[in-house]
Formats: sequence, C-alpha cells, structure tokens
Amino acid sequence: MKLFFLKAAASTAASRILAVLTTFKPFSDRVSGRIYFRIPALERTLYLTFDDGPGPATQPLIDYLNLKQARATFFFTGEATESCRESASVLTAARLSGHEVGLHGYRHLNAWHHRASTIEDDHDRGLRRLLAPGNADAEITTTWARPPYGRLTRSLYAWYKRNSLAVALWDVDPADYSDGVTAADVIRYIRKTVRSGSLVLLHENSPVWAEENGTSLDRLIDGLIADGWKLEALPHPREVFPDALEALPHPREVFPDPREVFPDPEKRP
Ligand SMILES: [Zn+2]
Repeated sequence: MKLFFLKAAASTAASRILAVLTTFKPFSDRVSGRIYFRIPALERTLYLTFDDGPGPATQPLIDYLNLKQARATFFFTGEATESCRESASVLTAARLSGHEVGLHGYRHLNAWHHRASTIEDDHDRGLRRLLAPGNADAEITTTWARPPYGRLTRSLYAWYKRNSLAVALWDVDPADYSDGVTAADVIRYIRKTVRSGSLVLLHENSPVWAEENGTSLDRLIDGLIADGWKLEALPHPREVFPDALEALPHPREVFPDPREVFPDPEKRP
C-alpha cells in the first residue's frame, strides 16, 4: 500500500505542481468567508466531516473510504498535524485520493474564550502548518475552515475572509465526542437525521469509534452507502451552486456577539 502510494505520489508530482500553479487563485469575495451549515446538493449526497485529526484512526479511515470510493473532509488542527508522526503522508494521502483538508486552528482554542489577537495568531500558525513544506499538497485544498467548537467571532470571521477561506459548520451533530454514547447510537442517529447535502460533524479519533476493534466507522460508511447516499468531499466553494448562495444565512445570523450570549464570562461554556 505504502509503495504504491509513493509511486503514485512521484508520478503525479509534476502534474500536481502544474495544477497548483494553474488552479490556486483567491476566489471571489462573493464566496470567500461564506458560512455553510449544509451544501445544496442535487443528488442524494452527504458530506462527512472529521475534526481534530490527524491521529491514529485517520489513515485507516482514509483507506476504508477509498476502498468504498467514498470521500470526506478532514479539519486538522496544526497541533495534531505536528504531533501525528505520519501527518505529512496522511495529508498527502488524503489529497491524492480526493478528500478535502481544511483548517481547524492550531491549538483548538474556543474563540469565545480568548482575545481576538490570540485567536488570529493561533489561526495564522495553524494555516502556516497546513501549508508547511512537506504539506504543499494541502495548499490548493485549504479553501475550507471550521472554527473549533463551531465558535465564530467577528474578528475570526474577518480572518477567514482575509485568508480566502469558506466556513463549514454543520447541520447534523451526532455527538460522537460525548461520554455514554455508543457507536450504534451515533450511527442510528446519523442514518435517521441526514438529508441531502447534510454536513455531518464527526471525530474519527473519538473513543466511540474504537469500539468493535475500530470497525464501527466502517459500519457507518457501509450503512450510509446502503441507504443510497453518495459520500463526497466538500466541493470548492466556487462550485457550490451559485444560485443557492443567496439563500444561505447571512453571517450576522450565524454568530452572535459572545457578550450578548454569555453576559457573565464565568458562565461561558
Ligand atoms: Zn474540533
């Protein structure tokens, strides 16, 4: 598998460099900074998103998705990318097989609990890590970002816009990070709740998915495919149906001022 991968990487290196040069340009302001809870989809399509990696479960998941000709989106943190021994190969493997890799900050800080400058510095660092030498492949796909905990502020939103990133939130959260839930609970919830174009929030390295010798994520993927869903990576924001963009919520409706939501800073989550 590894040998095959290295060979594939070498043979496509030149064409990828060309692709980077020819396709990486900032997308228009109309799309940059857009916030999505769901992607308008014509077909019966789902967008599985996996946060907080890479970690031990990431590569096996990529392998299984590839086996099933399914695609997903990974929101990596800079810190996890640095601590994961094989992160460069995971990033490249994800890219080469058509998955999307987006930014999830560097230290996974909650933007509502830190100074704007701290969050901006953290995201600068996270973005530099994703674009670092050895991860150059990630460059053209870093068009998506997800704020840690889904917590946006106006300054973080402005940072995303400055960096030509669109924001992927979610419409289906099966809480695979919660204590006391089983993989079966999570899978049942997802299969019952998703609709076409849903963005599903998942964490492949959550203990929930370590059940059944780590095969429970495979079961989720099998179940969704059996239900007739096509599993896709997030499209480039430019490719999201332009007509539907206008129907999406305006940023003002998406992130309230944290001071209004949690007037007492001590009570913030
Ligand atoms: Zn996260």
